[in-house]
Order: sequence, then structure tokens, then C-alpha cells
Amino acid sequence: MSANHSLQKLLDELGRLPGIGPKSAQRIAYYLLEADAEEARRLAEAILEVKQEVHFCSRCFNYATADECSICQDPMRDTTRICVVGEPRDVQAIERTGSYHGLYHVLGGVISPMDKIGPEQLHIRELLARLGHEDIHEVIIATNPNIEGETTASYLARTIKPLGVEVSRLASGLPVGGDLEYADELTLGRAIEARRAI
Ligand SMILES: [Zn+2]
Repeated sequence: MSANHSLQKLLDELGRLPGIGPKSAQRIAYYLLEADAEEARRLAEAILEVKQEVHFCSRCFNYATADECSICQDPMRDTTRICVVGEPRDVQAIERTGSYHGLYHVLGGVISPMDKIGPEQLHIRELLARLGHEDIHEVIIATNPNIEGETTASYLARTIKPLGVEVSRLASGLPVGGDLEYADELTLGRAIEARRAI
């Protein structure tokens, strides 16, 4: 394989990554070309390792390196509350606030008719199963404050409330249309503390 061919292959792969345009791909590729072999090997190994070691928690679908994630395994957590989020990165955002000590449930997306994602494509069945066999008093819905997030929240409220479990939603104050992961910790922490029943 020629040098140009190898470089092009790296540029193509880097260019596929989210948030990396052709210019950034070039910058990273040339950086790696000039870096020593050991540094490049560490990056390649970290990528392979995360793919081999990290999978989804069998209980809440957060990222985990064991059968259950570190939060589900933590005996100090309040096991009577579940905070429902769209993606594992939302768990990280809420954890960073330090305002919440319960468990989580990651849906793996939100209801979006445009993208043909309905309730059955998400981990909602598993959530309802947890409400059946875990002693849960409150479900806090923390989907993003946009149309899909709100649609998902009202679907969940309609489905869960008849089971006799309290359902709440993060307080307003989060930027509408934004993503939880970009909310600052103070605002997100306040939205959790001031959550309201729906
Ligand atoms: Zn878990």
C-alpha cells in the first residue's frame, strides 16, 4: 500500500467521526504521522479496549464493564428512585451535578416518529419490568427539553402513572430545544431538585 493510500485511509476513518471535518481530520492525521509509534499505539489500543470492555448494563442500559454498571452496583444509591434518560451520556451529565443519588434507566433514544422510533424500539419494556420487581417509588423523567423528549416524557407518564408510581419531570429552566449534556451543572442540578410531579 502506498504512503498516500495509507494516509487517505486514515483521513477517511477520522472524517467519519462526529464533529471532525476534513480540516480537523487532516490535522489529526499529520499529528499522528509525526507522533512516535508508542503514542499512536496507545490511541489504537484505547479504541480497541473500549470496544471490547464496555457494553450496556443488563439492568439500566448505562455503559458498564461488568454485567451491571457501577451505579447499579453501588450499595449507597437510593434504590427507590429511577431517573429515565435518553442516552448514557445523559447519565454522566446528571452525575456531574451531584444532586441525584438514585438509579437510572437509559432508553437508548427517544420517541421520534420522523425517524420511525416508537416505544417498542426503546428500553421501555425493561423499565416497566423493573417497576414490577424493584421497589420504586418515583420515576424522574429527564429526557431532553425538546419535542421528542417531551413526547417521550408524556408517553412514559401515561404508561407509568396507572402503576401507582409517582412520576416527575425536571423543572423548567433548562434551555428549551437543548441537550441535557450541554446544560451547566448548576442549572441541571437545580432542575433535578425542583422537579415537579406530572
Ligand atoms: Zn446499571
